[in-house]
Amino acid sequence: MAERRRVGIMGGTFDPIHMGHLILGESAWDEFHLEKVLFMPSGNPPHKVGRKGAANEQRTEMVRLAVEDNPHFELSLEEMYESGYIYTKKTLRRLRIANPDTDYYFIMGADSLLAFDTWNGPQEICDQCTLVAAVRDLMPMEELDREIARLRDKYHADIRKLHTPNLDISSHTIREWARCGRSIRYYVPEKVMDYILESGVYGEL
Ligand code: ATP
Ligand code: MG
Repeated sequence: MAERRRVGIMGGTFDPIHMGHLILGESAWDEFHLEKVLFMPSGNPPHKVGRKGAANEQRTEMVRLAVEDNPHFELSLEEMYESGYIYTKKTLRRLRIANPDTDYYFIMGADSLLAFDTWNGPQEICDQCTLVAAVRDLMPMEELDREIARLRDKYHADIRKLHTPNLDISSHTIREWARCGRSIRYYVPEKVMDYILESGVYGEL
């Protein structure tokens, strides 16, 4: 029997995409022997209603710039539509029907994992993919382990821990820094930094 394909999904608002997202994607590719990682900007995330920030086209363009020179990263527009909210369970359902030979690895930070019970259809998500969780916000490793164990029990989920260090970086901080003229170099890829500075997307130049 042919071996099944393994594909990672890095979902997010990516407003903007930053080194934290990229390191998570690269580490998951490496640690779980993934064929590729899909970077999937969300068109209308239900947990960010009333979001101000970059437009969908701008977030998408920054993701494109960030992933274009990595041969195993890919921009996916699977969640980039605007009518209604975007739900991971539906995305997974569509992808699995279109690619029945593929197992999906959904990559997330600990903050997302802590909110997982509030996602739409957590059971259905767990039934359809492997979850990959990375530490964040200086959460003690034991706390992340406890949360993983709890979700494993509750949803019979396949959850793996990603072995990345705590990466103290967020889109929120980058937006703030760009707005007040503080340097964001090295927190985002150079091409993304140039895009932010040239477009003035997060405020006055
Ligand atoms: P914001 O500050 O606007 O909420 P963010 O930095 O949290 O942005 P998102 O687009 O909301 O970025 O996150 C997408 C996914 O990446 C989420 O699962 C989030 O947990 C994860 N993530 C983002 N930054 C990090 C980081 N520094 N370490 C670990 N996971 C991260
Ligand atoms: Mg976030």
